[in-house]
This record gives sequence, C-alpha cells and structure tokens, in this order.
Amino acid sequence: MGTNDSGRAIVLGRRHVVRLASAGLGFGLLPSTAWGQGSRLFALGVASGDPEDRAVTLWTRLAPDPLIPGGGMSPATKSVCYEVALDPAMQSVVRRGRVLALAEHGHSIRVRVRGLEPDRWYWYRFIADGEDSPVGRTRTFPHRHCAVDRLRFALASCQDFQNGFYSAYDNLVTEDLDFVLHVGDYIYEDGPREGAPRQVNGPEIVSLDDYRIRYALYRLDPSLQAAHAAFPWIVTWDDHEVDNNYAGSTPEDAQDPAAFLDRRASAYRAYAENMPISPSIVSSGSSMTIHRRFDFGALAAFHVLDTRQFRSDQPCGDGIAPLCPDAIAETQTMTGAAQEQWLLENLRASKTLWNVLAQQVMFMRWDLRALAGGFPVFNMDAWDGYQAARARIIEGLVSSNASNPIILTGDIHSAWAANIHENDSDPESAIVAAEFVGTSITSDFPVEFLPLVAATLGDNPHIQFFDGANRGYVTFDVDRERWVGNFRAVQSILEPVSPIRTLASFTVEEGVSGLVRSP
Ligand code: FE
Ligand code: CA
Repeated sequence: MGTNDSGRAIVLGRRHVVRLASAGLGFGLLPSTAWGQGSRLFALGVASGDPEDRAVTLWTRLAPDPLIPGGGMSPATKSVCYEVALDPAMQSVVRRGRVLALAEHGHSIRVRVRGLEPDRWYWYRFIADGEDSPVGRTRTFPHRHCAVDRLRFALASCQDFQNGFYSAYDNLVTEDLDFVLHVGDYIYEDGPREGAPRQVNGPEIVSLDDYRIRYALYRLDPSLQAAHAAFPWIVTWDDHEVDNNYAGSTPEDAQDPAAFLDRRASAYRAYAENMPISPSIVSSGSSMTIHRRFDFGALAAFHVLDTRQFRSDQPCGDGIAPLCPDAIAETQTMTGAAQEQWLLENLRASKTLWNVLAQQVMFMRWDLRALAGGFPVFNMDAWDGYQAARARIIEGLVSSNASNPIILTGDIHSAWAANIHENDSDPESAIVAAEFVGTSITSDFPVEFLPLVAATLGDNPHIQFFDGANRGYVTFDVDRERWVGNFRAVQSILEPVSPIRTLASFTVEEGVSGLVRSP
C-alpha cells in the first residue's frame, strides 16, 4: 500500500464543497454554543456507502430532535465540516472539506469523497457548531482490474421496526466484512400495530415529513447506527420504502394515481436524503434511478437492481395465482427496458470472476401447486409473475458468458438457496446461477406458513434450502475458488442483544454450477 498524499488535501468538485482555508474555519475550534454541551446534533449518527476504488459517500443528517418535522433545525443553511483519516483516533487526516446542510434536504449531507487510495480502510467524522459526530469506518474497493484474493460481505433486508429489535445488527458489527449489501424494506410505511414489540410513532406515512421522521425513528436505533458506522453499505430499495407491493405507478390500495406519484416522489426524496448513496443519485419528479454497478476488484461485480420503480403491475390479480396470459406476456417487465438492457450489456462486457445480481424479489421458480390441489400457482409479486422477463435475464446470463452468476434476494422474510436452471421449468436443464435469499433482520414470516412452504418444496427440486423460522442475515466469504454463503440467525429479536449462529452454509465452486451444502 502506497502512502497517501498530505493531510492538507481538500476535496473539491461538488458545488457546496469549498476549500477549508478560504472558508476560514478550523476543526474543533468553534465555540460549542448553538447546541451546547452534550447536544444531539448528530443524533442520527453517520454512514458511508457506494464504495468504489477511489471514492466513497459519507452521510449524516443534522437533527437534534429527529422525530419532529424539521428535525429540530432552524430552516437556515448550516455549514458542516468533515474529515477522513487513516486511523480511528482521527490523527492522520487525509481529507478535509466543508459542505452545506440545506433545509430543503432535511439538513442531510451526502459527500462524495474522491481521490482516495484503493482497497483500504478509512475513518471519518463530521463537525458542526463545535460538535463532533461519532467516528465512522469505511473503505474503498480494490481497482476493478486488480486481482483480489478475498471478499467478505453481508446481505441484509426487511427490518420492520415494529416486529422486534435489531439484534442481528448488534452481531453484524462484529463480523469480518468489507461491506453490507441491503436489498430493501429498510423502513416499513405502515402505522402502529397492536401488540408489536416496538411501536412506530405515527400512522401510515405519506408526506415527505412522514418519511423523513420514519427514517429518523429507524436510524435512532443504536444497533442499526453502529452497523452503518462500521462498514460502507450498498443499498437498493424494495416496496416498503414507498408502499407495500407497489408496482411502478400502481399503489397497493386503490388510490388516485397522481396522489400516489406525489407520495412516491416524497418517499424517493427521503430515501436519497437518508441513505449513503452517491449524491449524483437525485430524484427527478417522482422518479429516481438507483440501479448501478460496483466492482470489488476483478473478483466480483455487483449489479444492484431496482425491481419496483419500472415494473409492470403484478399480473393475474397479484397474490398466489395460476399463470394468466399477463404473467407470460413478452411485454411484462420487472426492471423496465432501459435497466434490463443496461444489465445485459454489463453482463456481456463483464470480465469479473463472480457476477452478482443484487435485487429484491425471488428469482427462482416456486411452484406452490401442493397448496392448490396440484394445479400450478405462483407468487405474482416475484419473478414468477414476470416469466418472459426472467427468461430474458436467464438467456442473457447464458449468452453473455458472464462467469459464475449469483443472485441475491430479499423481500420474503425467509432464507432460501436454489439453483437457477436454463429452462426454469425443467430441473434437468443446465444450472446457470445460484440464488441466495436472505432472511429478514426482523420482519415477520408467519409460523403458520412454515408447514405450507414445506409442503411445496417437493415440487421444486432446484430449491436446496428453506428456513422461515429465523431472523438474521447472510454472510458471504468469496475467493477465486469458491463462493460460500452462511445463513446467520439470531436466537431472538425480542431483545436488543441476542446470540447468533449459522443455520446452514452453501458453496458454489468457481466454474462448477450448483450449490453444495457444507457439512
Ligand atoms: Fe419485507
Ligand atoms: Ca418487500
């Protein structure tokens, strides 16, 4: 590892980033006045994300009173400094800069720090009004042409606040990881639920303030905050960041389409304000493009997808249903044409050893005929309701020669591992990918469904593993020989701290198709 340039370096580029010297500010020298001693300007903590070889996004939001509209801030613009260092004590500072926190962004900050060294850990903090934020840790990825021996990361999804505590994150911070991949349902939009282990602080969220406060409620959780401070995150959304099972511009419940698009615009805007994604990702009207790709050296490419914003409405009346003409229509899309083309082009161009699709809903075929008197029925919210779109992706995986495809999934609050076959209704056809479905951090999988799912597995020989009884995450240990997924499960989500264990591990050998369960 070479040496970094001097600690004087100031990152420029964004409009609001100015030279520290010209701003005439020092760090830690300002009188602690506005918020006083022990104030909670940084009550929501810090986060980082979208790591690349030379750049990473740093995030915070000024909100001394996070659960009220405005977060307890005056509408005035606030100047905030940041530092990036080589050590947790913040002694060897390699970047300093200043950004403006604007009321129109909920006083949130996303800074893209550039010019960092590839493949190394950094520490960072923010400073405003003489108050220091907590120190976060982050890292850059190896350069995409660089041979890399090993990668470790965790897959997380579905963290309904009301369903329990984040004991999973309390364990996750102790894992040896390069980053966290979150594939959505980061918040849930619904109102209070009677008898729930924790309660949200308001009814179903609709307005921008509602969404901001909901993110703040989640981000006040100390275990979630610690998990953000410990690793960079790569995130994408699913439905509950807006509305359960929405599809494109179609809401779950009958609602005026224009009103729903307003709601979606607020939800997307709050997402951008609260997630450590690149500041180049901004909402435009009711749209926001978040699909993107990350390369961890030449070892693994992560194609991070959005299967909500551009999809066709769930066919056949949604829910569990027989395949109707819409489910098999060529026009049915899960990603929209542009994202699908982007993905297929990326796969064709990929020279990376492992090629990951990081996405939301179950890609594998799941035939539930055992629950319908032997007549095939499918989950219409998953790729089973988008048969032609799935076939196009599978065809792309085969024809692109992208090596070792791996599909990572959330949404269904249960753990699954499955082989994806070239012809997904023919288990004798070639295996083209492996799919790991993470369980949920907290979100519920009703116990009464367990025997029902178990009854369907015999009709789905490509499904190697199912567990719906446990909450947790999946860790992946990846090198040039194998891809290993470990389904990690906490003992309880009814308390903030609970032990974790590995339920099962599955391996995909490089160049060899198909999952193998580890002893
Ligand atoms: Fe969920
Ligand atoms: Ca979902």
